[in-house]
Amino acid sequence: MLSQVQTATDRTDAGPPPVPFFSQARTFDALWPVLERRLSDVVSHGKYSHGRTVAELEAALAAWTGAARVVGVNSGTDALVLLLRACGLEPGDEVLVPAFTFVASASAVTLARGRPVFTDIDPVTYGMDVDSAAAAVTDRTRIVQPVHLFCQLADMAGVRALAARHRLTVLEDSAEAVGMRWDGVHAGLLGAGGVLSFFPTKTLGAIGDAGAVLTNDERIADTVAALRHHGRAGRTIDNFPGISNATVLAGVNSKMDDIQAAVLLAKLAGLDAQIARRAELAARYTELLRPCSGVRRLPTVVDRGVPTRAVFYVYLIEVDRRDELAEHLAAQGIGTETYYPVPLHLQPSFAHLGYREGQFPNAEAACRRTLALPLYPDLADAAVDTVCAAIRTFYDGRSA
Ligand SMILES: *Cc1c(COP(=O)(O)O)cnc(C)c1O
Repeated sequence: MLSQVQTATDRTDAGPPPVPFFSQARTFDALWPVLERRLSDVVSHGKYSHGRTVAELEAALAAWTGAARVVGVNSGTDALVLLLRACGLEPGDEVLVPAFTFVASASAVTLARGRPVFTDIDPVTYGMDVDSAAAAVTDRTRIVQPVHLFCQLADMAGVRALAARHRLTVLEDSAEAVGMRWDGVHAGLLGAGGVLSFFPTKTLGAIGDAGAVLTNDERIADTVAALRHHGRAGRTIDNFPGISNATVLAGVNSKMDDIQAAVLLAKLAGLDAQIARRAELAARYTELLRPCSGVRRLPTVVDRGVPTRAVFYVYLIEVDRRDELAEHLAAQGIGTETYYPVPLHLQPSFAHLGYREGQFPNAEAACRRTLALPLYPDLADAAVDTVCAAIRTFYDGRSA
């Protein structure tokens, strides 16, 4: 009995260390001197929400993305809701949203009193399928809202042509798309506006929730700035000079915390290096996984006919027996995620819209087959090797 326990312990000690799905402990260790200074500055300036650190972050992000205006809010989801409202969505207006995405892409539409209308996706990029979107246009369609998932932009040439044909506003759910560019233009600035999420696991992550709207449209930016702060009049919509703190819209409390802004400012300085490290790790995965039975698709950055910049937020593969593979990896201490297990047209929260299984085959297949592997700047090359060896062993019974 004792010797069995001993053997088990020995085997664990000899095996490779576990690979969590996400960690940024090393990033924060290296960043600590800068972070400590910034956090103590917030503590001493004493305006913990919507203060000058938030303003500094908005300016820094505007410079980094090239946006005329960045408006900080308290999540990527709120950024979407407020952006939809600022674009003048009326109750019952229809918004085209792909069926394979994070649920917030569509619940934001419901929260803004619009009606999400789902489209299928392109099976290679997982972005909105423009033909499917065109087929879903009605005389109530007001906005087309592509989502940029995992490592690259949706087909923005196709989306913009569709929008021009039907006089639709283009809003981008660019929550995952920090650093991604289309012909030099940052994601979120290819239509009326876009959003960023600073959820901790995102490419630029805070230590809690935060988000932002980015736009080149001053009126949209001013409206979002008012909405996030109880509808208080901002710079150009203040037509009530006699009333202090005039509220001109029914707003919400979606102010950004200065602590989050301080963390994001500290991390922004190293963001390009972190993005480059993500690309290296992704290339290593691709090299090691290319000839592997059971792995049906690796991330493929497509040629859009214009220069684009991909950013690996998530390394997503398509595999046979996905759930079994995830369990096999978990048993060896390797974390994975399923982005996204249920297509939105089949989510109970959208059942009232009346969609059926089979309507969006590419979205449904992606939900069944895709698996996200660990990918973050703190990940060591050896950890990628460990993950790939475990995947090979699962399908081929050996690691080489
Ligand atoms: C993360 C994410 C959001 C929501 O952002 P939060 O900051 O978590 O509210 C919305 N859409 C997509 C595609 C996302 O990945």
